Amino acid sequence: MTEVTGTVTDDYLRILNPSVTERLGYVRHALFDFDGTISTLRQGWEEAMIPVMLEAICGSHPVTPEIEQEVREYVDRSTGILTIEQMRWLVDAVRRHGLAGEPLTAAQYKQIYLDRLLVTVNQRVERVMRGEISPSDAMIVGAEDFLRALHSRGVKLYLASGTDHPYVMREASVLKIDHYFTGGIYGALDATEANNKERIIQRILDEHGLSGRELLVVGDGPVEIREAAARGAIALGMATDEVARRGWNPHKVRRLTSAGADLLAPDFSRLDVLLGILFDKEGDSPAGDRIVEGTPWTKDRPDRFST
Ligand SMILES: [Mg+2]
Repeated sequence: MTEVTGTVTDDYLRILNPSVTERLGYVRHALFDFDGTISTLRQGWEEAMIPVMLEAICGSHPVTPEIEQEVREYVDRSTGILTIEQMRWLVDAVRRHGLAGEPLTAAQYKQIYLDRLLVTVNQRVERVMRGEISPSDAMIVGAEDFLRALHSRGVKLYLASGTDHPYVMREASVLKIDHYFTGGIYGALDATEANNKERIIQRILDEHGLSGRELLVVGDGPVEIREAAARGAIALGMATDEVARRGWNPHKVRRLTSAGADLLAPDFSRLDVLLGILFDKEGDSPAGDRIVEGTPWTKDRPDRFST
């Protein structure tokens, strides 16, 4: 699958999988990843996890470039899975490298990581709660508008995250978006792994007897995008620069492209384009020439989907 950068007129939405156009127009359910897709409260979590892993693997030995590269690649590849799974990988890596003696348990490593990460996250959460920053300033640009637009079109929304369930509930509530997810909010429950994204996607399809094209999956991690693509759901990859909260992150573009995303967007700033391509059947989109040259969307009715 290749990027179609060359055919995008203003580079907002990229259609990576041309055959997706035949499956668009039927979305009734939508599953969202949370961190990096909607919320930026945990922006920078990778930079908390990577040192924990390097310290665990190397112990008192110096960190080599090879080990650092291995850890960075793993963290990137595993974005979106349950944190405890990432820590199970760490236990194996500590054992495999043999530099730091017997590893701790995955749960212990996870606690070390959370203790560090939560210092930053809690400061951000408290700033929102105190009103020092607005919820929208802690979200990807346009995220709430997109949720509201889907909700008002009768699309049932689900939130699924590899972050622990109580934190996802708290952070979705602080951002005042929890009420949109009438299909449920699914954070990680380590004891059962019942809430991993693979199972949730399958459960939504099964419980509602859906065909893949009726489910939209929106995420910035390879995990949810790969699962969506494997089940024929519409996979919308969000390749956002989380620091700016808008615009392309080239690294995420590559990651989501290789995970099999059907569509890529840098943020939710262009609701007309997003809603046009998702809800209009072939040849009937108002997004027109703002998407990709050479696709069937050429009608120019920009006002029809204004929200
Ligand atoms: Mg994410």
